[in-house]
Amino acid sequence: MNEFMEKKVKLKWYEPKQTYDVIIIGGGGHGLSTAYHLATRHDITNVAVLERKYIGGGNSGRNTTVIRANYGIPEAVKFYQRSVELYQRLEEETDRWMMHKQKGILWMAHTEAHVRQEKARAEVNTAFGAKTIYVTPKEINEIAPEVDLTGGGKWPVLGASYHPEAATARHDRVNWALAEGANKRGVYIHQRTEVIDLLKEGNRVIGVMTNHGPMYAKTVMSAVGGHVTRIARMAGIRLPIRTHPLQAYVTNHYELEFDPIVASTSLLFYVSQTARGEMLIGAEIDRQPSYNYRAGHHLIQTCSFRAITLLPFLRHLRILRQWTGVCDMSPDYSPIMGFTPVEGFVITTGWGTWGFKAIPVGGEQMAELIATGRTPDLIAPFALDRFKKDRTKADRGSAGTH
Ligand SMILES: Cc1cc2nc3c(=O)[nH]c(=O)nc-3n(C[C@H](O)[C@H](O)[C@H](O)COP(=O)(O)OP(=O)(O)OC[C@H]3O[C@@H](n4cnc5c(N)ncnc54)[C@H](O)[C@@H]3O)c2cc1C
Repeated sequence: MNEFMEKKVKLKWYEPKQTYDVIIIGGGGHGLSTAYHLATRHDITNVAVLERKYIGGGNSGRNTTVIRANYGIPEAVKFYQRSVELYQRLEEETDRWMMHKQKGILWMAHTEAHVRQEKARAEVNTAFGAKTIYVTPKEINEIAPEVDLTGGGKWPVLGASYHPEAATARHDRVNWALAEGANKRGVYIHQRTEVIDLLKEGNRVIGVMTNHGPMYAKTVMSAVGGHVTRIARMAGIRLPIRTHPLQAYVTNHYELEFDPIVASTSLLFYVSQTARGEMLIGAEIDRQPSYNYRAGHHLIQTCSFRAITLLPFLRHLRILRQWTGVCDMSPDYSPIMGFTPVEGFVITTGWGTWGFKAIPVGGEQMAELIATGRTPDLIAPFALDRFKKDRTKADRGSAGTH
């Protein structure tokens, strides 16, 4: 596996064709992973991935890279555990080093209610295949001695759930490895190709209109992250999705190694260390729905205050960069994957603030759905019609920062 992957990845660029078997709108992790799995698992390669800017330029290249399966409901635990395991094999499978590193995540409890919540999380996770244990303050101190267990005198740490298989991976490399894997098997990737409308015949999507003209396919998949409402409207569908900005930032290099990922629901932040030694900090979504990519001082100020409460060493570091992505938030915090009421049009959305970890399994499952025409069991609970049937999958474990 080579170190300077960005220089070595060679994608072949072709002129757009008129027809494909499958058109995937959006060259983020989910679009690329679906293309990769169509090619590698189903030998379907007459596939176009259409990206309006550059691949991985959306949320898949803007996230805080946390991979974990310690979710709150059985269906989600099983789904994300599959992804955790696929990530563990992905470097070997693609022969590309993605800086995947197992770190473990500590999810802090500062109140009796959160102690019960974290104990319940450990039980549900372990029962459905994602090992998680409840740990005491003494054990937390052994895993992460930097944590101030008094919580600055205001937020005492009473315990935590610990999910040892949690990991991080370099997001750009995940996108590029999947793109390369798909492309070398024949998948077409067209950057700077924006879908401006869907082509329909009756209740069937038959293709897309792009800034380079029309393209036709039997199946069109939307994988456009926070921009899904616009694409769905082109199909004539109204989705239960709101788009909210989410910000993150990194500090300069912290000279000591900080092993685990630390999260706190009460304090609404999580932190991990990048391979370069920077401390990477994430927080809650902006409350106001919008497509605004601007980052603001308010978030840095309030989030840093909270983070320092638990990790006082952070106050000695400087903030280097801050950025924003726009997230497709579903009302039950679970993804929406699969068929829609419009024939030939499938979606993968509702990835909100938690979809990076799902890139391998999301692509694997959507590829199977497209190839076989059947919804795989693992994603059946996440179908769009659950809202109509009153079978929502409310999952407060999908992010630590609701
Ligand atoms: C700050 C931040 C931190 C996060 N942290 C984590 C984390 O730690 N762990 C985790 O699991 N998840 C995290 N997430 C969420 C995760 O990044 C996303 O859920 C995931 O990347 C979504 O992938 P995607 O492929 O669906 O969308 P994207 O990566 O956003 O890709 C969609 C693509 O579609 C393109 N597009 C849009 N409209 C069109 C059009 N009309 N035509 C053609 N192309 C179009 C866009 O340009 C974009 O490249 C975070 C997100 C943010 C913003």
